[in-house]
Amino acid sequence: MLNKHKFKRIGFPSFSSMRLLSHLLVLFLQLVPCVVCQVKEFVSIDCGATSTYTDPRTGLAWVSDTGITRHGKVVEIESPNGDIQQYRRRRDFPADTKKYCYTLNTHERRRYLVRATFLYGNLENGDTYPKFQLYLDATMWSTITVLDASRVYVKEMIIRAPSSSIDVCLCCASTGSPFISTLELRPLNLSMYATDYEDSFFLKVAARVNFGAPSKDAIRYPDDPYDRIWDSDLDKRQNYLVGVAPGTERISTPKNIDIRTREYPPVKVMQTAVVGTKGSLSYRLNLEGFPANARAYAYFAEIEDLDRNETRKFKMQQPHVPDYNNAVVNIVENANGSFTLYEPSYMNMSLDFVLSFSFVKTPDSTHGPLLNAIEISKYVHIIPKTDNQYATVLDALRSLSLELDWTREEGDPCIPAHWEWVTCSSNTAPKITKMTSIRWLDGNSLTGPIPDLSNLISLTILHLENNRLTGPIPSYLGNLPSLRELYIQNNSLSGEIPPTLLTGKMVFNYDWNPDLILRKQHKQNFKLILGTSVGAFVIFVVLLLGSLLQLRNLRRKTSQEKNSEKRDSLRIIAKPLNAYSTVRGGSLMDEGVAYYFTLSELEEATEKYSKQIGKGSFGPVYYGKIKDGKEVAVKILADASIHGTHQFVNEVALLSRIHHRNLVPLIGYCEQANQRILVYEYMHNGTLWDHIHDSGNQKHLDWLSRLSIAEDAAKGLEYLHTGCNPSIIHRDVKTSNILLNINMKAKVSDFGLSRQADEDLTHVSSAARGTVGYLDPEYYANQQLTEKSDVYSFGVVLLELISGRKPISIEDYGSEWNIVHWARSLIRKGNVASIVDPSLVGNVKIESLWRIAEVAILSVEPHRVSRPKMQEVILAIQDAIKIEKGSRGYLENSSGSSTMQPSRKTLLSNFLDIESSDLSKGYVLPTAR
Ligand code: ATP
Repeated sequence: MLNKHKFKRIGFPSFSSMRLLSHLLVLFLQLVPCVVCQVKEFVSIDCGATSTYTDPRTGLAWVSDTGITRHGKVVEIESPNGDIQQYRRRRDFPADTKKYCYTLNTHERRRYLVRATFLYGNLENGDTYPKFQLYLDATMWSTITVLDASRVYVKEMIIRAPSSSIDVCLCCASTGSPFISTLELRPLNLSMYATDYEDSFFLKVAARVNFGAPSKDAIRYPDDPYDRIWDSDLDKRQNYLVGVAPGTERISTPKNIDIRTREYPPVKVMQTAVVGTKGSLSYRLNLEGFPANARAYAYFAEIEDLDRNETRKFKMQQPHVPDYNNAVVNIVENANGSFTLYEPSYMNMSLDFVLSFSFVKTPDSTHGPLLNAIEISKYVHIIPKTDNQYATVLDALRSLSLELDWTREEGDPCIPAHWEWVTCSSNTAPKITKMTSIRWLDGNSLTGPIPDLSNLISLTILHLENNRLTGPIPSYLGNLPSLRELYIQNNSLSGEIPPTLLTGKMVFNYDWNPDLILRKQHKQNFKLILGTSVGAFVIFVVLLLGSLLQLRNLRRKTSQEKNSEKRDSLRIIAKPLNAYSTVRGGSLMDEGVAYYFTLSELEEATEKYSKQIGKGSFGPVYYGKIKDGKEVAVKILADASIHGTHQFVNEVALLSRIHHRNLVPLIGYCEQANQRILVYEYMHNGTLWDHIHDSGNQKHLDWLSRLSIAEDAAKGLEYLHTGCNPSIIHRDVKTSNILLNINMKAKVSDFGLSRQADEDLTHVSSAARGTVGYLDPEYYANQQLTEKSDVYSFGVVLLELISGRKPISIEDYGSEWNIVHWARSLIRKGNVASIVDPSLVGNVKIESLWRIAEVAILSVEPHRVSRPKMQEVILAIQDAIKIEKGSRGYLENSSGSSTMQPSRKTLLSNFLDIESSDLSKGYVLPTAR
């Protein structure tokens, strides 16, 4: 509301037009050169635009990003925002594990405003709202969460450029695809927005408000020569500038304001204000990403013509922070005159997510408080980029072969996601300083000499094989302290091989380099080594043959004994099984500890297969009792001819080698008369599936029992992943493969689908197998199997344990049809109470529930890089057990109203992006400038 009376009173000036003209001229002379140079340096990228153009509203030139990025696709937006040209298209990037970056040139140590905006446009059927991350270099800038497809999300960061360029990167989509609409770089004048902490912190703009604005429109260029966006206080967003004090009125003046202090707010912003006619001004707004430490500015200019005997004196009141309340603002006095900016600021204040502030007039003041504008920015800790010396080497390596796709990965080599061909010491940013290994993908047609890698003191493995490298092998390679493996075979390298590489301390392959010369001494050494090795090998072969002969004799003997002993006892495997020799790590016979049963023994043990206890894809399972009284489960392989053979071989070979208290032990097997049978220890309490989902099952599992079962099963899986060498991926983790023994201890069973992970590869490629509802979508899509596929399936198991619901059910989840989508959306809304198994309510502690919900949701992240390792899952479960065993805090009812506090910081941080800045100095007193 415009206060007409006031407007009239402060209307056009009474002093002479000559004076005004001179004022304007001075202002013009001051601003024009600066504005012109400023604009020339603006970088304005319209992401997805098809051509370069000038925006008629601002006169600013926009360039298309076509020549800047090679990635992503352009998407037309059907109902653009107010038909602003920049929002007619957006650029979408793939939702994969890579990051996609724009590199902007900067002047090192100059301050800039960097702005990225995001307008998704209309949601089409089946589209999910995107949620992804925005990085500035290696520093996490913001999580972009689109909740309103027609809203332009604006992210601004004020930086002092750390180097001659910055990377703005999008990555890590948890829903939808990363996208961007515009990217802008605005240089600032020398001292604008300088802080005491700029070596270590960027400033993320949280609020920049123009009070008393004439309309809802924001003010920016050309009114603001630096093109900051000053939001109108009439903008009606949720929780934005609410709690306005009664008597607040809007005032404005057409007079010029002297804004030459430090931050140069636009004159137009300073020409309007709000005043508290009843003695106070107050506002409340939400600050995204807070609580945090902030830099805060207030902009005041007296824009009313006060009489001599009139005063405007007020104090700021920030509830809970008395330190802020003492300074008395007297704008005219502080600014040395009316129509002149007074800009007090707080270098470092700690603010909450909800900011409430008010200004209250002092008793001796004739007028209430006045406010023209505020600005609040959050300190964001700068995460160091990967060590520059590594970057230089990587650039040198890339420059050897620029045409290839893999050399074009963007941004920092390690953070937030590492380049495909690089391995880093850590991919979570805070403490990263260097890389531990670079794995060079071989066969990339690198040409020229080996570049200088002498700085890579943490390099452990270097693959340069199958290229066209020429020149000598640099001698420092033999002295790199961490280098364990060097592969340079099949190149055109020449000269002498440095002796330091031939000491035998590292794996070194230099075959097929015809021009490489092995020095004489080394040749002799080599001959010596070769001679010794051949000798040792011959001795080894003789010994091996001897042992084999002995073993054969033993086998014959055993077989004869077997026939004569009427096959009435269990024996160590003595049957040669050629098929098993295909299993990695040698034939089963060499390692086997499983027993061989005859068919008749098993018929007797199962009383002619009279008690079937289950049926799986493998075939029926029968109860049995063998001679020594041990109870067993006898699994018949129904189809012994097709895939079953392989499955059978796999299972026997694997299980016979693996022993862990949380894995169901294989007792023996039978392969006779075209029958294949496996004999397991009998698990008295059946499957976890039955306990959770079988309504006929009377034995109710309380929360602590569920946690204990989860811990057992997780330990079994963790053993497969890390305790076996090579590691083993289960591939069919599910509640029906988690069995419970007589003491309700859980053991993981059914290794029929297991595959050993290849030592040298990060994944194993094979046809997707597993069970619907538990299957890792990434594995399903690209057939690349890693331990993280088991983690995904185990995440589903955890969700079943929390909710008591099945993994797939149209009845339960409607169109979402699976537990993952259903639980994820509710947990992300902080509504964990609504997914809890009704039978648990009243007996679960909310904290322990959150701990499991949190790790379950992370485990079922669409991308495997975001999922935890089994070890981390175990820690979370153990945490939850500890919490649950402590006293206090049960979830009382399904609405969760009583104790429903999602208080875990780790979880909250997903929603609120909390960062606790660690600012060394804690000045909170206002500093007038
Ligand atoms: P799939 O073969 O499709 O993975 P599954 O895991 O249920 O399904 P099996 O492992 O063959 O198939 O088991 C079938 C059923 O037999 C189980 O659901 C369980 O009820 C029972 N069962 C299997 N092994 C044992 C055991 N060691 N002790 C007791 N019951 C068992």
